[in-house]
Amino acid sequence: MGAVGGPEEARGEGVNRRVGGPLCGLVSGPLPVEAGVVACPRATDRGMAGVREEASLREELTCAICCDLFTEPVMLECLHHFCKECIQRYWASCPRVTSCPQCRRELPSRAFRRDLLVSGVVEKVKKCSVEERKRESQKQLEEALQFHQREKENCLKMKHKAEQDLCQITKSSGELTSKVRAAFERLHRILEAQEKEVLLELSREEEEAVMRLQGHIRELERDVWELERKIQEMHQALKWPQEEVASSARPTLPRASQPPFSLQLQENKYQGPLQYIFWRQMLRSVHPAPAPLTLDPESAHPSLVLSRDLTAVTEGGWPRVGRGSPRQFRQCVNVLAAQSFGDGSHYWEVWVGGKTKWDLGVAADWVDRTARVQLCPEKGYWALRLRNRDEYWAATTPRVRLNPKSRPRKLGVFLDCEEKTVAFYDAEDMSHLFSFHGAVAPRLCPFFSTCFGDSNENSEPMRICHLAP
Ligand SMILES: [Zn+2]
Ligand SMILES: [Zn+2]
Repeated sequence: MGAVGGPEEARGEGVNRRVGGPLCGLVSGPLPVEAGVVACPRATDRGMAGVREEASLREELTCAICCDLFTEPVMLECLHHFCKECIQRYWASCPRVTSCPQCRRELPSRAFRRDLLVSGVVEKVKKCSVEERKRESQKQLEEALQFHQREKENCLKMKHKAEQDLCQITKSSGELTSKVRAAFERLHRILEAQEKEVLLELSREEEEAVMRLQGHIRELERDVWELERKIQEMHQALKWPQEEVASSARPTLPRASQPPFSLQLQENKYQGPLQYIFWRQMLRSVHPAPAPLTLDPESAHPSLVLSRDLTAVTEGGWPRVGRGSPRQFRQCVNVLAAQSFGDGSHYWEVWVGGKTKWDLGVAADWVDRTARVQLCPEKGYWALRLRNRDEYWAATTPRVRLNPKSRPRKLGVFLDCEEKTVAFYDAEDMSHLFSFHGAVAPRLCPFFSTCFGDSNENSEPMRICHLAP
């Protein structure tokens, strides 16, 4: 080996020596610097094996003193490598003995060799690491950029949608405001008209009664005058009795009785439950008034039993044969109303009470009565359904689960043929349950399905509610 007398040893030495220490086992003979081990492949091109190899190489090129990649690596007699500065500092800290901090071997001198080969490899690894980091951070930046661009696009889309919604909400709440105003104006007009009519009737009755009573009083005054005259005549006759006077002294006919007027009767009429009376009258002017529907027996599935007045239906268990109308539902326990609608708006109420399942709504007149019913708008049904006692669904595609405030016992169905909507309400507090849009058919029929009775569990009838007359 060349002069080992000082730190500045012969260049290039050690290149062909077996490299010991941390590099032992990795390289024997010339290091395959260009052979790909440190050729900086892109992280994405490397497999796990490549990553492991690089980690192992870094370990081999790490100084045991500073635990970092070698800086100016030097090799001791024992063939261990350290940074030049690290070994010098180490030796300076223990001036008595000169040894290798790694293998503890005592060394004859503090001589070392610069290892250019290892130095070159370290430089290459460092450069690779820097480039790798650069590439990584560039990649991360690009990804972050794309992510932010996508986020920006999403934000812009959402903003656009929100702006559209804003326009829509302004427009539709304007329309709704006028609708609500119109509805209240109509109610006000009805109430005002009714108030006027009732007050007019009251004052007419009063006037009539006053006139009748005044007439009666005048008649009585005339009678009093007449009687007084007669009494006078009779006093005269008593003084000078004559035959002909006696004949006129016969009792006169009874006076006209009090005309049929009773203050009590009038008071009773206007002291009753006025609000209820007027509400009843107002209800009759409400449009649309609850439609007095009846069930169409010809459409009813053979196992359905209808009430005599055709307003209630229950599932009877045993299909009866012999009807066979083309309007009849053959597969499911359904029935339609006898009435169908093609224009205007209509409202009706259906009592479902404590039933545990039912289907209810509107069906197109063309629904297939022979097929198994698929409850959805595509098949001509706009309906709600109850299953398992408290699972309420809108029969849309896919179905929408509803969460009413309480279990509705009476449902209100509102069909607006012009707006093509079918809306459902809990008729007891008129809370809105669900609305379908786009309900179109030449004619739409109220539709009912009791579902099966399930051995009395669900045997309660469904009933169309009519307004009490
Ligand atoms: Zn070091
Ligand atoms: Zn050593």
